[in-house]
Amino acid sequence: MARKPQTPDFSRRQIISAGAAASLALPLGSALAQQAEGQPLLGNPALPELPGERMRWAIVGLGTFAVGQVIPGFADARQSRMTSFVSGNPDKARMLGARYGVSRFYDYDNYDSIADDPEIDCVYIVLPVGLHAEYTIRALEAGKHVLCEKPMASTSAECEAMLAAARANSRTLGVAYRVHFEPNNMNVLQRVNNGDLGAMRFVSADHGFNANPDWPPHKWRLEKALAGGGSMYDIGIYGLNTSLMMLPDDTPEAVSAHYSTPANDPRFTEVEGGLDWRVRMASGITVQGSSSYCWSPYVSRQRYFGSEASVEMNPATTYYDNRIVFEGSGEPPRAYTAGNPITQFAAQLDGFSAAARAGEQHRTPGEMGLRDIRLIEAMYRSADAGGALVAL
Ligand code: NDP
Repeated sequence: MARKPQTPDFSRRQIISAGAAASLALPLGSALAQQAEGQPLLGNPALPELPGERMRWAIVGLGTFAVGQVIPGFADARQSRMTSFVSGNPDKARMLGARYGVSRFYDYDNYDSIADDPEIDCVYIVLPVGLHAEYTIRALEAGKHVLCEKPMASTSAECEAMLAAARANSRTLGVAYRVHFEPNNMNVLQRVNNGDLGAMRFVSADHGFNANPDWPPHKWRLEKALAGGGSMYDIGIYGLNTSLMMLPDDTPEAVSAHYSTPANDPRFTEVEGGLDWRVRMASGITVQGSSSYCWSPYVSRQRYFGSEASVEMNPATTYYDNRIVFEGSGEPPRAYTAGNPITQFAAQLDGFSAAARAGEQHRTPGEMGLRDIRLIEAMYRSADAGGALVAL
């Protein structure tokens, strides 16, 4: 069937206002007082507007998280800029350098020579966990401040050595717990601190995904030497760390845990495929959680139950789409987002830059990373002992 030609549907108001605008236009051919013309490029397009002097960063390890989140995060940073890449793949590093205006390159062999590079103030370690301690300590000894990805290291002994190196070299050491800069989590923390939930009674935090042993970023997560531990190290730590953030006046006293690794799953010969855990807090409440490498789809869910109201975050700690449901205080359940999660990456960089410049502790310092690894080690001791309560 032939379609009827569309007739423009101008309203009377549109016709009148179009005519009024035309009568205000300059007569054609009249001499122009101003002329539009091109100008030379001033400034460096790779370094937009410097609101103050920015701290200069080297990124160590150009893997999926660095390329997908960390490096793009610099676009919105106000106190931080990238100057250097450290990588074992020079072609990849140079390709990314061309894209992001980074022109200083190091590899894992000449890494220590960053000590002589005045264009590096801060180093961001985005390597597999088993490499965190070594590359953090080498950067600290080179006189640089270090932000290290989570979990801080393979063992609490490594964490202690990292902290000792930071102290010996008077540098700032932080662990990249980005959730402490994520607007939805900050909103829930503010509600908790305001007393909107009343007294906190119970916390539940579940995090997991299905690990693919054929995908390189998951493959190393299944190898103890590179991963340190299993699902609890990689993904369960979000639940543990965020729950403790929401309980600023409470302290863990004891833990218990059980492995939930499926029997005979060939992926899990070195690290656990799942861990269900509980932390008893000094106030008497329980924080409970689970972590798994065997769940589909991706799960990131936390619930905070108070005497007056409760909050569910689902997803709780993702990169882009975190969401809050607030329920209680006589109101119907309300779902909302409190800000764009993507801002967490730039906020974390700038938070660290500011702390390092001032010679202060980062919001999520190395000591917090050590605390969490000690808690997880205690959970493993409990699970190894069949779920026995382990006092801290
Ligand atoms: P990837 O495997 O994607 O990247 C790791 C990179 O490390 C590699 O691309 C490589 O970079 C470098 N590398 C050096 N030696 C090795 C080695 N022996 N095996 C594998 N890689 C090596 O891992 P992710 O990006 O997923 O994780 C990196 C870190 O970031 C981990 O600590 C992880 O826990 C953390 N992470 C944090 C997240 C968060 O939300 N905070 C999310 C995801 C990860 P190159 O080729 O340049 O040398």
